[in-house]
Amino acid sequence: MMMDRILGVDIGGTNIKLGIVGADGTISESGMIDTNAGEGPGRAADRVAAWYKERKGSHPAVVAAGIDSAGLIDGSRGILYTSPNLPGWENVPLAEIFSNRLGLPVTLDNDVNCAAWGEYRMGAGRGTSSFVALTLGTGVGGGVVMDGRIYRGWQGLAGEVGHHVIDRNGRTCVCGNRGCLEAMVNAQSILDRMEEAIEKNPACELASFEEYAVEDISNSAKDGDEAAVAVLAETGRLLGIGLANIVHFLNPEVIAVGGGISGAGDLILEPARETMKEMLMGDILHSVKVVTAELGNRASFVGAALLALENI
Ligand SMILES: [Zn+2]
Repeated sequence: MMMDRILGVDIGGTNIKLGIVGADGTISESGMIDTNAGEGPGRAADRVAAWYKERKGSHPAVVAAGIDSAGLIDGSRGILYTSPNLPGWENVPLAEIFSNRLGLPVTLDNDVNCAAWGEYRMGAGRGTSSFVALTLGTGVGGGVVMDGRIYRGWQGLAGEVGHHVIDRNGRTCVCGNRGCLEAMVNAQSILDRMEEAIEKNPACELASFEEYAVEDISNSAKDGDEAAVAVLAETGRLLGIGLANIVHFLNPEVIAVGGGISGAGDLILEPARETMKEMLMGDILHSVKVVTAELGNRASFVGAALLALENI
């Protein structure tokens, strides 16, 4: 019997990552194309359809497509209401647009839920039943799998882990609040922390850089630069407060940390684990595992595909 395959499509602000995924989660083909969001969703769907039509002859068992993006999404109606990464894509019937171009049934979901589902099925959450995936980058997103299902909440908007407040006097967040986990540990917070560190330690490695990214801070810390190590450790301790809250709310078996910043690995995660454990109520909770996500930027399209398969 031929195994069902699904097209998974993760629409980001810059790139669309996509692939053909088997029902067992294996990726038989993957690629990346430009989003060119300014041209609108129809043109983006045309480019995805062109990619797919070039390949569908080799994958005759494709039965559906799962699409995801960041933003406010009503999956049951297939509508993207608004997305910070896709300016002008307002109230778009994205599932219908893609379904028409692809000639496949399409389901639509939020990128972080899909990333969580991908990690749950094929990555760091495999074998658990209660699992949380955090994505650390420009923003901080979260997806929650409880008792083997994505927890969506009443209006489908649950899992906004990035916007729970860990310091009411903290940095201002894009959402308007102060001290959200996102504002305290996102890429910008790390860059700002590094700027302060450079002022105090003009001899540190990055002081000689005209510009640097979070990856450079990670590399500098891996080289042993104390200022960079301290910046990541402070970020980790702040993340640890958020992790303790998540554990108290949800009691997950595993929390996986992915996204661009997770490349710093244990330079952030070890201080995060220490702070989390200091804050947890009882030793029994210490058995939660905080690990690096495994699927990288493939998590969302794999999760979108596997969720679509469940919906048909
Ligand atoms: Zn916020």
